[in-house]
Amino acid sequence: MAANMAESLEALVVASFGRHLQVRDANGQRHDARPFGRKLSLVCGDRVRCERSAQNQELHVVAALPRRNALQRSNARGGAEAVVANISLLVIVLAPRPQPDPFMVDRYLAAAASANIEALLLVNKIDLGVIAELGRELAIWQKLGYAVQSCAARLRQGIDELAARLHGHTAVVVGQSGVGKSSLLKQLVPLATIATGELVRDEAGRHTTTTSQLYELPSGGELIDSPGVRDFAPAISALEPRSLGFVEVDRAGVSCKFQDCRHMQEPHCAVRAALTAGNIAARRYESYRRLRRLFEELTAAQRPG
Ligand code: GDP
Ligand code: ZN
Repeated sequence: MAANMAESLEALVVASFGRHLQVRDANGQRHDARPFGRKLSLVCGDRVRCERSAQNQELHVVAALPRRNALQRSNARGGAEAVVANISLLVIVLAPRPQPDPFMVDRYLAAAASANIEALLLVNKIDLGVIAELGRELAIWQKLGYAVQSCAARLRQGIDELAARLHGHTAVVVGQSGVGKSSLLKQLVPLATIATGELVRDEAGRHTTTTSQLYELPSGGELIDSPGVRDFAPAISALEPRSLGFVEVDRAGVSCKFQDCRHMQEPHCAVRAALTAGNIAARRYESYRRLRRLFEELTAAQRPG
């Protein structure tokens, strides 16, 4: 009996490649681990319970602990799929080049607000100057209460300030390809950690590239790099149904005549009134409208019959 007793421990998922995981135990040690049971779907940031198999010393993840939150995207079938879990800050990176896609930024902001995750807009490549259009968009987000910070990863400008901002957080970095996410990571995390950390052994013992990785920051805090969030469409079921996570729609929407107002064509809609009065930015409303359409398409597609 005692010989078969498995050693049990709690750990944090710090890297994932499909079903191959790396977990960090309470002592900060990293171990390769595998989910035990088909139903376990785990992502970086998940807290888990593991057992070490008495036979071959393999570490099995036997249970996921409840999530505080998760960033969830829509999968191909319109269902929800977690990308990262238990994060406290979503860092959305923008740059003068490539040309920013404000609709994508709004989708991230909507997902973050719906999941109660704080967001930070990080403008990288400030050495290129802030183009007028980006400046206008930033002003809109700032007016809504979103924090904006700037840096130039290539010149190591604003990196210490960013590190200070990340202190005490578990942050995930997202943004269009080419905005400088890898460059930022290299400035924040010692190169040696990145070089060895990205590798997880697969079943055959080969090294494979991870889809998601959590790094400890030397100045405190943790940063998750997750390619899974690069082409991000938020999971519809994870969005706050009334405002879809648009803070100004949420604020104005309390005065709509109908409680279930979708703020599209309904009479006596306070959101549309605020839009007409210029208190809600037309670009943000357009963003809301696109997401609302998607929301309704996917909801209809999921309804059986
Ligand atoms: P990622 O796709 O978001 O990971 O972006 P990368 O980190 O690969 O950067 C894309 C390009 O932008 C590279 O050519 C970087 O050298 C460049 N880049 C990154 N940071 C800066 C910066 O602060 N200023 C300028 N001018 N270029 C940068
Ligand atoms: Zn309304």
